[in-house]
Amino acid sequence: MNACDGSIQGFLVYGLPVVKEDDDLASLIRSHLQIQEGDVVCIASTIVAKSEGRFRKLDDYYPGPRATRIANTIEKDPRFVQAVLDESVEILLEKPFILSVTRFGHIGVNAGIDQSNVGEDRILLLPLDPQSSAERIRSRLGKDCAVIITDTCGRPFRCGVTGVAIGWSGIAALRDWRGVPDMNGRKLEITLEAIADEVAGMSNLLMGEAGDGTPVAVIRGLKYPKSGGSLFMPEEEDVIRPCLKR
Ligand code: GDP
Ligand code: MN
Ligand code: MN
Repeated sequence: MNACDGSIQGFLVYGLPVVKEDDDLASLIRSHLQIQEGDVVCIASTIVAKSEGRFRKLDDYYPGPRATRIANTIEKDPRFVQAVLDESVEILLEKPFILSVTRFGHIGVNAGIDQSNVGEDRILLLPLDPQSSAERIRSRLGKDCAVIITDTCGRPFRCGVTGVAIGWSGIAALRDWRGVPDMNGRKLEITLEAIADEVAGMSNLLMGEAGDGTPVAVIRGLKYPKSGGSLFMPEEEDVIRPCLKR
């Protein structure tokens, strides 16, 4: 049941260009990396979004009353707040920052919209459907590997940001330990391990957040289940969400 036979390797893919709309990420990656069977290819959502043309100009947004009200409260650009509202299906917190649910079920600050690594007066929305993006890229990588699309996120109850998986393909989101005996033979009852997030955390650690220009990391030698589960908690199982909405 161990996740590797001794050690795993994690390394960056160097030399990738600044990604533009319609760039074929799979062939870009293949031309910079000799992929091996079982590799987990982790790709920063930033470049997936760029390749999908998810850039917007702030000037393209016309803030409505809600965006204007929130923007005044938290001292943000009202055009940016309108972009966040447009990308969200539900707002869970309006202050001291906007926490919202994206169309694909991910909960994050500012709907995951980035202003870093994109240029002046421009924003970058998250990929429209990162799960489909992961599946599409994996199908074009030409090897039996896994793909994780990562984003850097804050976590409730803990300081600091880490990488999380917002799309995955060829690897389970969750490893199910239920029913497996512990060291004393007692069967585990509730442990679902968020392996796609753990791998995303490792890749984010390698990628960095600033100007390194390394949006792809590979985790090699990991043993993992190929399918199962989702990292987006169903609303009816979430005990925190109703408290935020109170
Ligand atoms: P996020 O975590 O998905 O929001 O992405 P970040 O903005 O934190 O960027 C992650 C890594 O990718 C950093 O090392 C960036 O320098 C790098 N990066 C971002 N965009 C590009 C790009 O278009 N080309 C290359 N080569 N690297 C990029
Ligand atoms: Mn991001
Ligand atoms: Mn990041």
